Amino acid sequence: MLNIRVEKTQNPKKKPAKGDKLGFGHIFTDHMFMMNYDEGQGWHDARIVPFQNITLSPAAMVFHYGQTMFEGLKAYKGDNGEVYLFRPDMNAKRANNSNKRLCIPSIPEEDFVQAVKAVVDIDRDWIPDEPGTSLYIRPFVISTDDHLGVAPSKSYLFMVILSPSGAYYESGLAPVGIWIEDDYVRAVRGGIGFAKTGGNYAASLAAQVKAHDDGYSQVLWLDGVERKYIEEVGAMNIVFKISGKIVTPMLNGSILPGITRDSVLTLCRDWGYEVEERKISVDELIEAAHNGTLEEVFGTGTAAVVSPVGKLRYKNEVFEIGGGKIGELTQKLYDELTGIQWGKRPDTRGWRQTV
Ligand SMILES: *Cc1c(COP(=O)(O)O)cnc(C)c1O
Repeated sequence: MLNIRVEKTQNPKKKPAKGDKLGFGHIFTDHMFMMNYDEGQGWHDARIVPFQNITLSPAAMVFHYGQTMFEGLKAYKGDNGEVYLFRPDMNAKRANNSNKRLCIPSIPEEDFVQAVKAVVDIDRDWIPDEPGTSLYIRPFVISTDDHLGVAPSKSYLFMVILSPSGAYYESGLAPVGIWIEDDYVRAVRGGIGFAKTGGNYAASLAAQVKAHDDGYSQVLWLDGVERKYIEEVGAMNIVFKISGKIVTPMLNGSILPGITRDSVLTLCRDWGYEVEERKISVDELIEAAHNGTLEEVFGTGTAAVVSPVGKLRYKNEVFEIGGGKIGELTQKLYDELTGIQWGKRPDTRGWRQTV
């Protein structure tokens, strides 16, 4: 159990009004959680303070060597005013898997969840309650030693900031176009692809810009060695329905293990689908698109829950999927997961936690 000191703001900010466009990630609440780590002392000085800028030395290691970890989850407001989190224990576990790979000291899972709940509780009035809206939660760690030598830092800062965010889909699930990237790669096995860390995103930007310039909203990555096997999409995992079966790339070290991915596969198995986690080549995918067995394609991630893919581009070919419309299973998964998250459907798996 953390002993969290609380300093409440004396100048509460104006909250967005009902009906205001919230967008994503540019409005922040009144408070934030902070906790320091120092070698020999461990994690200490857990506190909730007014949201504010932080000061670091220009030599702080995070600016030079990118030793950072982040997480992403949401708080949802139910019809009865209750506040829910979805599987926050999984974020705590994954944070430590990322930390371990990046030589960042681990954070006890229960402390991670306690920190998230404590700051969400203080800013619970910031959680929007219009359909599809939520409070995005961003826990992260940065290395703070002021030292230009390449080595793990001896001091760190763990923070949790909160951002009210709008409905991902303004008017129903909208299928997106995906660019299959055959030049740039995001990650390789043995690297940091499975860790949620800024470096993976830095590596992804050039391809994303290229795809956007061509009118595609996301990049589908191929493996970093042969550029032959499907990995994942931008900040989402990818799932295919081929001839009635659910097929998704197996976790191989270069793919981020999504919590939405795990939840979707669990639901599909419970609903009686055959689920295959395996290698899937881009050739197999194109073949399935050509012969009509590729029934549905969707991305999975906390931001969008599930994101139907209506169009795939590979080299100079463009394939339309499901007539550019949302697949039946994609919609069913969206309805079930969002139903559990907002407390509208029964939670039989212990996924929903009340704050
Ligand atoms: C966070 C993330 C995902 C999705 O994970 P969820 O836990 O489902 O939100 C997928 N891919 C990448 C690269 C990510 O950073």
